[in-house]
Amino acid sequence: MFEALAHDLAELPALLEETRTYTARILAGLDERPVTAAAVEHVAAALPEDGGGLRAALRAFESRWEPGFSASAGPRYLGFVTGGTTPAALSGDWLTAALDQNAHGAVGSAAAALERETVARLGELFGLDMPGAFVTGATMSNLVGLAIGREWLGSLRGASTAEEGVTAPVRVLSGTPHSSIGKSLSVLGIGRRRLVSVATLPGREAVDIVALERELAAGPAIVVANAGTVNTVDFDDIRAIAALKSRHDFWLHVDAAFGGFAAASPAHAPLLDGWAEADSVCVDLHKWLNVPYDSAVQFTRRQDLQLRVFENVSPYLGTPGATPDFMHLTPETSRRLRALPAWFTLEAYGRSGYREIVERAIECAREMGARLERNPRWRLLAPVRLNVVCFTLSGAVTTERVAAVLEELTRSGEAFLTPTVYQGAPAIRAAFSNWRTTLADVDRVCAALGA
Ligand SMILES: *Cc1c(COP(=O)(O)O)cnc(C)c1O
Repeated sequence: MFEALAHDLAELPALLEETRTYTARILAGLDERPVTAAAVEHVAAALPEDGGGLRAALRAFESRWEPGFSASAGPRYLGFVTGGTTPAALSGDWLTAALDQNAHGAVGSAAAALERETVARLGELFGLDMPGAFVTGATMSNLVGLAIGREWLGSLRGASTAEEGVTAPVRVLSGTPHSSIGKSLSVLGIGRRRLVSVATLPGREAVDIVALERELAAGPAIVVANAGTVNTVDFDDIRAIAALKSRHDFWLHVDAAFGGFAAASPAHAPLLDGWAEADSVCVDLHKWLNVPYDSAVQFTRRQDLQLRVFENVSPYLGTPGATPDFMHLTPETSRRLRALPAWFTLEAYGRSGYREIVERAIECAREMGARLERNPRWRLLAPVRLNVVCFTLSGAVTTERVAAVLEELTRSGEAFLTPTVYQGAPAIRAAFSNWRTTLADVDRVCAALGA
């Protein structure tokens, strides 16, 4: 065995202990770590000829790279929609790497059964009674849902897209879809231009049901319902959309990447009314579940069609049985057991823990919204419906003014917020989904914004 490798094997317990100590030190400093690292030019170092073993690698990482890593896992990183990692999720992720199971199927390991239990528990949390699978993120979950929808549309004509390819245009209807929908349509050979932008309600990002029904009259389609838009966390009326199924043929995909967590709060669960009737549902887990990247769940009630799209038959892999292995349901063949961090955090904190995390984030967003509303320098662009505050400067707003404010905030190291454009106006978003964030952090963010 190569010398450094043999040394690390012999010293493994001590080396893991050093890694643990180092990790604990990083996490203890997370709250005070600058939210984004200063821009430093990193010169790539060449591949070492021999390498110095794990201890030397730890030192090299600590000096060369760690200072450039942001506090995105910390409480005041409010850009995009960014979760952190709960203690239990971190432990689960370490064990995922330590045990290194291939969660492609059921042969020789309980890993796939654990994934099924985890999906079922997520279903309980969300109030969804559908089978599902883990994928790498909401983009992939949307892609899989749309792929099943594409297969379903083909089946209406007696065709299989999985076998023949896309032989007829696929129409996709949505009010305010996430950008990952267009990306998925590109990958799936449906094409970005097949996405029909349906009118939204006045002053809202939620789809206008009357306009949607007009589009559905033109023939079968895939409808992407949005349960939590990124700017204003608006929700389509999913119950009303599902009711259109009695008059029109369509596949209902719900993108509830982070909005799905409204289900964990009884007061907010009605925002998702009707989503249990969807044909496929996307929920991201590396956002509000606070498991590490990369993790999302993909639910569908039509695993038969999913199997047609993703089956991966080979004599050496076996044929799918009544309960198809995950490699026949998802884009990957070999798969990380990304269900394990999710299993740990659900086991450790349960339904009540997630209710508390979700409701605290909503309380933080509301408090920040109220503070901005009282301050003449700022203007709220939408009511705070859930966990995102969408706001802008008062007076004449330009992209440059917004960028300057955000740059100053980022430079303070106190908070990280990201820019957007809402109804044509340059704007700012603050998204709360990290389990560590409290009202004390809202104080700090508002102080940094002078609000
Ligand atoms: C974040 C998000 C996505 C994409 O998620 P990734 O995990 O980054 O792939 C899709 N839809 C919505 C509504 C989102 O918020």
